[in-house]
Amino acid sequence: MLQKIEGIVIRTSDYGETNKVVTIYTREKGKLAFMARGAKKPNSRLSSVTQPFTHGSFLVQSGSGLGTLQQGEMMTSMRHIREDLLMSAHAAYMAELLDKSTEEKKPNPYLYELFEQCLHYLNEGYDAEVITAIFEMKMLQVIGLHPELSGCAHCGSREGRFAFSIRENGFLCHRCFEVDPYLLPLSQAAIKLLRLFYFFDLKRLGDIKVKEETKKELRTAISLYYDEYSGIYLKSRRFLDQMERMQSFLMNKEQEED
Ligand SMILES: [Zn+2]
Repeated sequence: MLQKIEGIVIRTSDYGETNKVVTIYTREKGKLAFMARGAKKPNSRLSSVTQPFTHGSFLVQSGSGLGTLQQGEMMTSMRHIREDLLMSAHAAYMAELLDKSTEEKKPNPYLYELFEQCLHYLNEGYDAEVITAIFEMKMLQVIGLHPELSGCAHCGSREGRFAFSIRENGFLCHRCFEVDPYLLPLSQAAIKLLRLFYFFDLKRLGDIKVKEETKKELRTAISLYYDEYSGIYLKSRRFLDQMERMQSFLMNKEQEED
Protein backbone atom coordinates (compact mmCIF):
# COMPACT_ATOMS: atom_id res chain seq x y z
CA MET A 1 0.00 0.00 0.00
CA LEU A 2 1.35 3.40 -1.02
CA GLN A 3 1.02 6.05 1.68
CA LYS A 4 2.04 9.61 2.39
CA ILE A 5 3.41 10.32 5.85
CA GLU A 6 5.00 13.27 7.62
CA GLY A 7 8.03 12.61 9.77
CA ILE A 8 11.55 13.30 10.91
CA VAL A 9 14.55 11.10 10.15
CA ILE A 10 15.94 9.92 13.48
CA ARG A 11 18.41 7.23 12.41
CA THR A 12 20.02 5.89 9.26
CA SER A 13 22.27 2.93 8.65
CA ASP A 14 23.97 1.73 5.52
CA TYR A 15 22.63 -1.34 3.83
CA GLY A 16 24.86 -2.78 1.19
CA GLU A 17 26.76 -0.63 -1.29
CA THR A 18 24.04 1.84 -2.19
CA ASN A 19 21.07 1.47 0.15
CA LYS A 20 20.13 2.90 3.51
CA VAL A 21 17.72 1.79 6.18
CA VAL A 22 16.04 4.94 7.44
CA THR A 23 14.13 5.21 10.71
CA ILE A 24 11.53 7.96 10.65
CA TYR A 25 9.48 9.21 13.57
CA THR A 26 6.13 9.94 11.95
CA ARG A 27 3.21 12.05 13.03
CA GLU A 28 0.63 9.44 11.94
CA LYS A 29 2.19 6.12 12.92
CA GLY A 30 5.01 6.68 15.37
CA LYS A 31 8.39 5.13 14.63
CA LEU A 32 8.84 3.28 11.32
CA ALA A 33 11.82 1.94 9.39
CA PHE A 34 12.15 1.89 5.62
CA MET A 35 14.53 0.68 3.00
CA ALA A 36 15.73 3.59 0.88
CA ARG A 37 17.14 2.03 -2.27
CA GLY A 38 20.03 3.89 -3.82
CA ALA A 39 19.98 6.59 -1.10
CA LYS A 40 23.74 6.29 -0.55
CA LYS A 41 24.43 7.47 -4.09
CA PRO A 42 25.04 11.22 -3.99
CA ASN A 43 22.90 11.87 -7.07
CA SER A 44 19.96 9.83 -5.78
CA ARG A 45 16.74 11.75 -5.28
CA LEU A 46 16.53 10.08 -1.86
CA SER A 47 19.97 11.18 -0.70
CA SER A 48 19.05 14.61 0.70
CA VAL A 49 15.72 13.63 2.26
CA THR A 50 17.32 10.76 4.17
CA GLN A 51 19.82 12.97 6.02
CA PRO A 52 19.50 12.86 9.82
CA PHE A 53 16.91 15.29 11.31
CA THR A 54 15.28 16.04 7.95
CA HIS A 55 11.65 16.96 8.45
CA GLY A 56 9.69 15.92 5.41
CA SER A 57 6.74 14.40 3.74
CA PHE A 58 7.43 10.87 2.54
CA LEU A 59 5.79 8.52 0.11
CA VAL A 60 6.22 4.98 1.38
CA GLN A 61 5.27 1.50 0.34
CA SER A 62 4.43 -0.56 3.39
CA GLY A 63 3.75 -4.26 3.63
CA SER A 64 4.27 -6.99 6.19
CA GLY A 65 8.06 -6.62 6.31
CA LEU A 66 10.33 -3.61 6.03
CA GLY A 67 8.61 -0.95 3.93
CA THR A 68 10.32 1.02 1.20
CA LEU A 69 10.77 4.73 0.91
CA GLN A 70 9.74 5.77 -2.58
CA GLN A 71 9.95 9.54 -2.50
CA GLY A 72 10.50 12.35 -0.06
CA GLU A 73 9.85 16.05 -0.06
CA MET A 74 11.75 18.20 2.37
CA MET A 75 9.71 20.45 4.66
CA THR A 76 12.64 21.67 6.77
CA SER A 77 16.22 20.68 6.06
CA MET A 78 17.45 21.51 9.60
CA ARG A 79 20.55 22.67 7.81
CA HIS A 80 21.79 24.87 10.68
CA ILE A 81 21.78 21.85 12.97
CA ARG A 82 23.73 19.71 10.52
CA GLU A 83 26.30 22.43 9.89
CA ASP A 84 27.16 22.79 13.58
CA LEU A 85 28.88 19.96 15.42
CA LEU A 86 27.58 20.87 18.87
CA MET A 87 24.01 21.39 17.64
CA SER A 88 24.16 18.06 15.78
CA ALA A 89 25.35 16.37 18.96
CA HIS A 90 22.33 17.77 20.82
CA ALA A 91 19.93 16.74 18.06
CA ALA A 92 21.51 13.27 17.87
CA TYR A 93 21.05 12.87 21.60
CA MET A 94 17.37 13.89 21.45
CA ALA A 95 16.81 11.56 18.50
CA GLU A 96 18.46 8.64 20.31
CA LEU A 97 16.49 9.31 23.48
CA LEU A 98 13.29 9.31 21.42
CA ASP A 99 14.38 6.15 19.59
CA LYS A 100 15.23 4.23 22.78
CA SER A 101 12.03 5.32 24.53
CA THR A 102 9.60 4.24 21.82
CA GLU A 103 8.49 1.07 20.10
CA GLU A 104 7.70 0.85 16.40
CA LYS A 105 4.22 1.61 15.09
CA LYS A 106 2.94 3.24 18.28
CA PRO A 107 1.59 6.67 17.31
CA ASN A 108 2.14 9.48 19.80
CA PRO A 109 1.19 12.87 18.32
CA TYR A 110 2.26 14.67 21.50
CA LEU A 111 5.75 13.22 21.26
CA TYR A 112 5.94 14.00 17.56
CA GLU A 113 5.07 17.65 18.21
CA LEU A 114 7.55 17.84 21.06
CA PHE A 115 10.43 16.48 19.01
CA GLU A 116 9.61 18.58 15.97
CA GLN A 117 9.37 21.76 18.00
CA CYS A 118 12.63 21.11 19.85
CA LEU A 119 14.45 20.54 16.55
CA HIS A 120 12.97 23.72 15.11
CA TYR A 121 14.02 25.78 18.13
CA LEU A 122 17.50 24.28 17.89
CA ASN A 123 17.66 25.02 14.17
CA GLU A 124 16.56 28.62 14.81
CA GLY A 125 19.47 29.15 17.17
CA TYR A 126 17.90 28.81 20.62
CA ASP A 127 20.31 27.73 23.36
CA ALA A 128 20.97 24.05 22.64
CA GLU A 129 21.52 23.10 26.28
CA VAL A 130 18.23 24.69 27.29
CA ILE A 131 16.30 22.98 24.49
CA THR A 132 17.84 19.61 25.38
CA ALA A 133 16.96 20.09 29.06
CA ILE A 134 13.36 20.94 28.10
CA PHE A 135 13.19 17.86 25.89
CA GLU A 136 14.52 15.65 28.68
CA MET A 137 12.06 17.03 31.22
CA LYS A 138 9.16 16.54 28.83
CA MET A 139 10.31 13.02 27.90
CA LEU A 140 9.94 11.89 31.51
CA GLN A 141 6.21 11.31 31.22
CA VAL A 142 6.73 9.50 27.89
CA ILE A 143 9.10 7.09 29.65
CA GLY A 144 6.59 6.77 32.49
CA LEU A 145 8.40 8.81 35.12
CA HIS A 146 6.48 11.32 37.19
CA PRO A 147 8.62 13.29 39.67
CA GLU A 148 6.79 15.51 42.16
CA LEU A 149 7.80 19.00 41.05
CA SER A 150 4.78 21.11 41.93
CA GLY A 151 5.38 20.92 45.69
CA CYS A 152 7.30 18.98 48.33
CA ALA A 153 7.38 15.23 47.62
CA HIS A 154 7.30 14.51 51.38
CA CYS A 155 4.82 16.96 52.97
CA GLY A 156 3.10 18.44 49.91
CA SER A 157 3.87 22.05 50.85
CA ARG A 158 4.27 24.51 48.00
CA GLU A 159 5.95 27.18 50.13
CA GLY A 160 9.56 27.58 51.12
CA ARG A 161 12.98 26.79 49.71
CA PHE A 162 13.34 23.59 47.74
CA ALA A 163 16.01 21.06 46.84
CA PHE A 164 15.92 17.99 44.62
CA SER A 165 15.72 14.49 46.00
CA ILE A 166 16.37 11.60 43.64
CA ARG A 167 15.35 9.14 46.35
CA GLU A 168 12.03 10.87 47.18
CA ASN A 169 11.31 11.34 43.46
CA GLY A 170 10.98 15.11 43.40
CA PHE A 171 11.49 18.33 45.31
CA LEU A 172 11.75 18.54 49.09
CA CYS A 173 10.93 21.73 51.00
CA HIS A 174 13.42 23.08 53.57
CA ARG A 175 11.32 21.59 56.41
CA CYS A 176 11.85 18.09 54.98
CA PHE A 177 15.51 18.31 53.91
CA GLU A 178 16.58 15.77 56.57
CA VAL A 179 14.40 13.06 54.94
CA ASP A 180 17.08 12.46 52.31
CA PRO A 181 20.76 12.53 53.33
CA TYR A 182 21.74 12.56 49.62
CA LEU A 183 19.63 15.59 48.83
CA LEU A 184 20.84 17.59 45.84
CA PRO A 185 20.97 21.28 46.74
CA LEU A 186 19.97 23.55 43.85
CA SER A 187 19.63 27.29 43.39
CA GLN A 188 16.02 28.48 43.40
CA ALA A 189 16.55 29.52 39.75
CA ALA A 190 17.30 25.90 38.83
CA ILE A 191 14.28 24.68 40.84
CA LYS A 192 12.03 27.10 38.97
CA LEU A 193 13.35 26.03 35.58
CA LEU A 194 13.01 22.30 36.27
CA ARG A 195 9.40 22.93 37.25
CA LEU A 196 8.78 25.22 34.26
CA PHE A 197 10.35 22.83 31.73
CA TYR A 198 8.30 19.95 33.06
CA PHE A 199 4.93 21.72 33.03
CA PHE A 200 4.88 24.56 30.49
CA ASP A 201 3.51 24.52 26.98
CA LEU A 202 6.52 24.44 24.65
CA LYS A 203 4.73 26.50 22.02
CA ARG A 204 4.97 29.42 24.42
CA LEU A 205 8.75 29.37 24.73
CA GLY A 206 9.87 32.98 24.66
CA ASP A 207 13.32 34.45 24.62
CA ILE A 208 14.89 32.39 27.38
CA LYS A 209 18.27 33.16 28.91
CA VAL A 210 19.82 30.84 31.46
CA LYS A 211 23.10 31.47 33.27
CA GLU A 212 25.96 29.02 32.73
CA GLU A 213 26.01 27.91 36.37
CA THR A 214 22.26 27.30 36.35
CA LYS A 215 22.60 25.21 33.18
CA LYS A 216 25.24 23.14 34.96
CA GLU A 217 22.85 22.53 37.85
CA LEU A 218 20.08 21.47 35.46
CA ARG A 219 22.49 19.13 33.71
CA THR A 220 23.49 17.49 37.00
CA ALA A 221 19.95 17.10 38.33
CA ILE A 222 18.53 15.71 35.09
CA SER A 223 21.45 13.30 34.53
CA LEU A 224 21.25 11.92 38.06
CA TYR A 225 17.52 11.44 37.72
CA TYR A 226 17.78 9.68 34.35
CA ASP A 227 20.63 7.48 35.60
CA GLU A 228 18.59 6.41 38.60
CA TYR A 229 15.21 5.78 37.01
CA SER A 230 15.17 5.67 33.21
CA GLY A 231 17.22 2.52 32.59
CA ILE A 232 18.35 4.15 29.34
CA TYR A 233 22.02 4.38 28.45
CA LEU A 234 22.86 6.48 25.43
CA LYS A 235 26.16 6.72 23.58
CA SER A 236 25.13 10.11 22.21
CA ARG A 237 24.85 11.47 25.78
CA ARG A 238 28.47 10.59 26.49
CA PHE A 239 29.54 12.20 23.24
CA LEU A 240 27.55 15.32 24.09
CA ASP A 241 29.13 15.50 27.55
CA GLN A 242 32.60 15.28 25.99
CA MET A 243 31.72 18.02 23.50
CA GLU A 244 30.47 20.29 26.26
CA ARG A 245 33.59 19.74 28.36
CA MET A 246 35.69 20.55 25.31
CA GLN A 247 33.68 23.71 24.64
CA SER A 248 33.96 25.02 28.20
CA PHE A 249 37.70 24.24 28.13
CA LEU A 250 38.07 26.32 24.96
CA MET A 251 35.95 29.14 26.39
CA ASN A 252 38.12 29.30 29.52
CA LYS A 253 41.22 29.36 27.35
CA GLU A 254 39.84 32.25 25.33
CA GLN A 255 39.15 34.19 28.50
CA GLU A 256 42.69 33.60 29.75
CA GLU A 257 44.10 34.88 26.47
CA ASP A 258 41.98 38.07 26.53
ZN1 LIG B 1 8.17 19.29 52.89
